Amino acid sequence: MKDQFEKLRNLMIETQLIPRGIKDEKVLNAMRKIPRHLFVPSDRIDEAYEDRPLPIGYGQTISQPYMVAVMTELLKPNKNKKILEIGTGCGYQTAILAEICKEVYTIERVPELTEMAKRNLEKLGYKNVFFKTGDGSLGWEENAPYDGIIVTAGAPKVPESLKKQLSKDGGVLVIPVGSKFTQSLLRITRKENFYDTEELFFCAFVPLIGKEGW
Ligand code: SAM
Repeated sequence: MKDQFEKLRNLMIETQLIPRGIKDEKVLNAMRKIPRHLFVPSDRIDEAYEDRPLPIGYGQTISQPYMVAVMTELLKPNKNKKILEIGTGCGYQTAILAEICKEVYTIERVPELTEMAKRNLEKLGYKNVFFKTGDGSLGWEENAPYDGIIVTAGAPKVPESLKKQLSKDGGVLVIPVGSKFTQSLLRITRKENFYDTEELFFCAFVPLIGKEGW
């Protein structure tokens, strides 16, 4: 069984990620290593490596593997970076970030999902992840600035709080912005008080619910 999941992970890399342009070896290696099947409900284990999001309960989803990979790559992650993640969900994206980066601060609004993610990350032994339950649209000011902020839920506009919590020295915010059903993925890079915005491609995330969200 272990070998079978490893094979499915390699197949996911070869057929879903590399052909679509994911190049960062750190991202590919992390996705090769993290057992995604441990993050999905037990009755969906067979679908864990398929090319789509899956339900995880509470009306929420684990993102499509390609979306996790591309958003991680856009953050330009490395072992010196401190990252803030908004929308922990079951913690799969958190684990990928924890594998590559120095520290990951992650916020989820559904308490049961924070607990699920904590259990998942503990099982894998990550000690560089800090969890919070609350409204992530406001960020986590106490630990700012962040080298990267990743939002895994769709926002109506870019939250000012998140922009302010980016490092002035090239901090990067990756966020889907648009309607409740479809969004554009944006990458915003901060240099001092100048913000450079790139509009990348269309995507569909669950809504970011909160003071600076929906
Ligand atoms: N990162 C997850 C993964 O690894 O697959 C996917 C997360 S799911 C697509 C989006 C999550 O954002 C949901 O769990 C939802 O509850 C959460 N969410 C929505 N609004 C939020 C907010 N204001 N603060 C924190 N989490 C929020």
